[in-house]
Amino acid sequence: MGLTFLSIQGLSVSYGGKADVLRDVSLDVQRGEVIGLIGPSGSGKSTILRTLVGLLKPRAGTVTLDGQVVDYTSRASLRGARDRFAIVFQQYNLFQNMTALRNVAIAPTLVKKRAKADVEAEARALLARVGLAEKVNAYPDELSGGQQQRVAIARALALKPDILLLDEVTAALDPELVGEVLDTIRALQRDGMTMLIVSHEMAFIREVASRVAFLDQGLIVETGPPAEVFDQPRSPAQQKTGRNRHDRSPRLDDGGCRRRRSRSRASDAKRRLSPSA
Ligand code: ADP
Ligand code: MG
Repeated sequence: MGLTFLSIQGLSVSYGGKADVLRDVSLDVQRGEVIGLIGPSGSGKSTILRTLVGLLKPRAGTVTLDGQVVDYTSRASLRGARDRFAIVFQQYNLFQNMTALRNVAIAPTLVKKRAKADVEAEARALLARVGLAEKVNAYPDELSGGQQQRVAIARALALKPDILLLDEVTAALDPELVGEVLDTIRALQRDGMTMLIVSHEMAFIREVASRVAFLDQGLIVETGPPAEVFDQPRSPAQQKTGRNRHDRSPRLDDGGCRRRRSRSRASDAKRRLSPSA
């Protein structure tokens, strides 16, 4: 395996000088890898993605991408971070007054000041890649939620990121529309796109992720291949920590239908992976 593509080392992040919500987070990602970020609500999953893309300033730590340290300190260098990471949120927030094509083409045209014809050709290709070749001229209100989210993914790809960050991109969709968005993500994975995916679609994470990182209270408490993290009991120390934390924070992030749970996190994860879950 070659050079680590993305290296996050000792990342600590707080909101407005309060207590750290990410505490000494480290994660190495190889090119083409898909990492699933899982963990209870409030554990810091979104904060990792927001920090990588430059929406939050780390208090400590370094991020190295393709051998270069990403500098989050200045406005100019933040632009650099935003060139290299693209993020897609639960809420797709398309421009309602623009066609799908224009939504995808607008940033490269305005921000990158690239020639409109070139950008539009790329935007068409991207919309085809997310299965929306027929919808280039549709406006958001003529598209389903799943289709709009796929436009949002195409829009993120239009900036040619090195790494795509997906934050619960299916969480706001009606159940019957989730599959088409997951298909799009599967296709990106097959094309070798490096991705960090926050999702409560555990079966999907298990399928597409090469590794998962389990966060709890701002710490990565476990990293490994999905089968290991989901199926196998963790070290006694981790189980103990997990149980203690679990008592204080009994909710697993499962997209709104949260229940109190008394079982260990490992069995929780397993339960969520079973077909009946
Ligand atoms: P997750 O995505 O895993 O649900 P987040 O990264 O959104 O968790 O949140 C991690 C922690 O940071 C939580 O304790 C949350 O309350 C806190 N937090 C998130 N956003 C803000 C904010 N804008 N201001 C202050 N605290 C925040
Ligand atoms: Mg979140």
